[in-house]
Amino acid sequence: MKTLMASVLLLALQPPTASFSQAPPQLPWIRGSMAKLEAELSAKHGEGQRERLRRGMKQVANFWRASDGDATVFEDFVRTKFAGDQATLDVMFDRFERNLEQLDGHMQEIGREFRNQSDLDLGPILPFDEMFAAYDPSSHVIDDFFQNKLAFTVLLNFPLTTLEKKLAEGESWSRRQWAEVRLAQRFSKRIPAEVNLAIAQAAAEAERYISECNIWMHHLIDTKGDRLFPPKLRLLSHWNLRDEIKANYSEGPVGLAKQRMIQQVMERIVDQTIPAVVVNNPHVDWNPYTNEVKPAAAQDSEGAMPGRGPTGTGLPSNSPEPNTRYAKLLGTFRAARKADPFSPTAPTMIARRFDENREIPETRVRAMLEQTLSSTLAPQVAKLIETRLGRPLEPFDIWYDGFRPRGVYNEAQLDEIVAKKYPTAEAYKKDIPNLLTQLGFSKERAEYLANNIVVDPARGSGHALGASMRSAKAHLRTRVGKGGMDYKGFNIAVHEMGHNVEQTFSLNNIDHTLLQGVPNTAFTEALAFVFQGHDLELLGLSKPDAMSRALKTLNDFWGTYEIAGVALVDMEVWHWMYDHPNGTPAKLKDATERISKEIWNKYYAPIFKKRDIMLLGVYSHMISYSLYLPDYPIGHMIAFQIEKQIEKAGNLGAELERMATIGSVVPDIWMKRATGAGVGPEALLTATREALAEVDRTAKER
Ligand SMILES: [Zn+2]
Repeated sequence: MKTLMASVLLLALQPPTASFSQAPPQLPWIRGSMAKLEAELSAKHGEGQRERLRRGMKQVANFWRASDGDATVFEDFVRTKFAGDQATLDVMFDRFERNLEQLDGHMQEIGREFRNQSDLDLGPILPFDEMFAAYDPSSHVIDDFFQNKLAFTVLLNFPLTTLEKKLAEGESWSRRQWAEVRLAQRFSKRIPAEVNLAIAQAAAEAERYISECNIWMHHLIDTKGDRLFPPKLRLLSHWNLRDEIKANYSEGPVGLAKQRMIQQVMERIVDQTIPAVVVNNPHVDWNPYTNEVKPAAAQDSEGAMPGRGPTGTGLPSNSPEPNTRYAKLLGTFRAARKADPFSPTAPTMIARRFDENREIPETRVRAMLEQTLSSTLAPQVAKLIETRLGRPLEPFDIWYDGFRPRGVYNEAQLDEIVAKKYPTAEAYKKDIPNLLTQLGFSKERAEYLANNIVVDPARGSGHALGASMRSAKAHLRTRVGKGGMDYKGFNIAVHEMGHNVEQTFSLNNIDHTLLQGVPNTAFTEALAFVFQGHDLELLGLSKPDAMSRALKTLNDFWGTYEIAGVALVDMEVWHWMYDHPNGTPAKLKDATERISKEIWNKYYAPIFKKRDIMLLGVYSHMISYSLYLPDYPIGHMIAFQIEKQIEKAGNLGAELERMATIGSVVPDIWMKRATGAGVGPEALLTATREALAEVDRTAKER
């Protein structure tokens, strides 16, 4: 067993060859056993079972290892576990559905209970509480199920399938067929523990690197020697740097200088000319334009300044990071590749992200992103931004944040209204049936939902935790301060309540628990945002006017336009890594620079009138959350489709219940059932067109 594992691993580490995208080699006796069993069991159960049997045995053989047993064990397994008639298959299906619901549900409960101390407002967190919180009782379930052969039982009797097939045939499948597909899919890969460990380690290393990528802003010096940023401001790349760009739109000429400087810092992060010594270090001053570094002439951190450099020159070196950013990314790629041979239906990380996690083919995603990027609306919105800014666009304006609607009430007024209404979490809980009726649910539905939602006082800002079995309830975690709930807390609570409502319907009111949930997080987020958008009406205040809604839409469009390019860079970089499996960090850096510039030049340069900008490559997700970025633009598109549909249907309550009980079929089929069309950017683009017209109309009226 040890030697087999070693050779399988070796195979995984080799450069891509024909064998690279296939499962590990099968055991030598397995073909003979399968032929024998096919003849024997087709005779016993009838010719009608031959195809199913052949498929099932093939699925089992793909994952069977020497340690699972020899030919006798395999043959005995197939003889006893193959359901040779429909009645037996039905019983097997029901039993798996019921037992897996119990397993998932209880695992979820244990996880939730173990995290209570760290998630809820219950007093100090002790060191062992963190250990409870980090423990995942379900982490070995797949391994266990292969070991005790329950996984093989599923693979022998239910079909594994590909995304292609789901999309081509899924619309005509029965609900039971979909549930069978979801059942089998749980066991579509059997990744050895050491491969999973390597993946986790590479991810942890990348995350650690990213979490330390801080810039001490007071130590940035401009060409005149001025410090533009206040002391102690430490910004994490890229999130805080980007948000600082956004925050400076209201700061006049000083804000503009700061924004330009941050862009310069970002570009040096992408091309790795950032001096290693300035990362997370308040003891050096840095001019990001000339790239000069000096010992800090101002102190804004705890602890003594370190001594001068060992070279005796007295100056810290500005030698760059040795492409660490790209070394970490390569580390996650190499670890991910080790899993490829054990995932026959999705044999690359790219396939796993698109075909399995997202279930939208990469070509479709690319087309949706390109459609948004090359939309004629982009230059129109850009022109509007230029008018609002009173200057030509600069590259960092991809993060323009000025489409903020002006509310009728200020934050303090809203806080007061909310605190009076909800002095405690209990008061909010009591009001849930009333809130839901206001949103358009019938009295009966509102009571039913409220009875399925437990409200807990959150330690952080709030979150929603659904159940995984019908005997359990969804949890709404909300923050209520000593003086009562504030507006921000209420706004979040309404969002989380939207999640809870979706979670309740999509578990308790669905025909198969194997189909519980929605296709992916973008769908549950979209439904939660619909709730959140009604928060002012729920307080009895007037809802946002047409202009506010138009500005919000333009803000979402611009955000989608920006992140669509970032997502394309992420995708191209992963293709480059798969095409160059022996690439070095330096080569990967060059490729990332080139890709970032190419995508910029194609979609942004015509609007921004500047070429060869690398900003699209700065996102930290690219390094530590492999291929996650495309979820953002798709999420925006889905949100607009769902919002539009609910608006059209007119009744939020009934429509949300209808949508939430479609269950976890693939996104396109879900969206077709929900709105009549597959996932795509059309709803977002239409709303943007209308928003531009609304802004135009309002401007003319003035
Ligand atoms: Zn959410």
